[in-house]
Amino acid sequence: MEFIAQPLPATKRVALVAHDNRKSALVQWCHRHRGLLERHRLLATGTTGSQLEAATGLEVEKLFSGPMGGDQQLGARIAQGEIDLLIFFWDPFEPMPHDPDVKALLRIAAVWNIPVACNSSSADMMVQSALMDAGFEREVPDYQGYLAERAGK
Ligand code: PGA
Repeated sequence: MEFIAQPLPATKRVALVAHDNRKSALVQWCHRHRGLLERHRLLATGTTGSQLEAATGLEVEKLFSGPMGGDQQLGARIAQGEIDLLIFFWDPFEPMPHDPDVKALLRIAAVWNIPVACNSSSADMMVQSALMDAGFEREVPDYQGYLAERAGK
């Protein structure tokens, strides 16, 4: 697989997801970083997004609820280059009916080299990075090259 550099804008598209037992932790985390988050574009799975909007007043684009396809919608947005960061407070203590979707979301985030934070300390470090409010170049798979290579198979 070849990689190419892709510029990321200073205003980031931040995806937020929390499983039920982790939603209050994500709400608290968003309260703490409210000033920073309002400078970026936020999107979330349905229930997470509704709770974040109600608790913080932040504007959040809400997709479907996770178990109803919201995680897959986020995965598609990542593959389409429409999400820059993923903050995903998944529950390490409970199995989920949509565990395959959760795994798929984390996999596609790795494929497209999206920064991912799965707990509050990683998320703290991520959003307080100097790169958060700056443009930077990130390596992504060379999809056109990948297609061209596969055309020869
Ligand atoms: P929810 O989905 O925000 O609709 O609860 C999150 C998830 O379970 O993946």
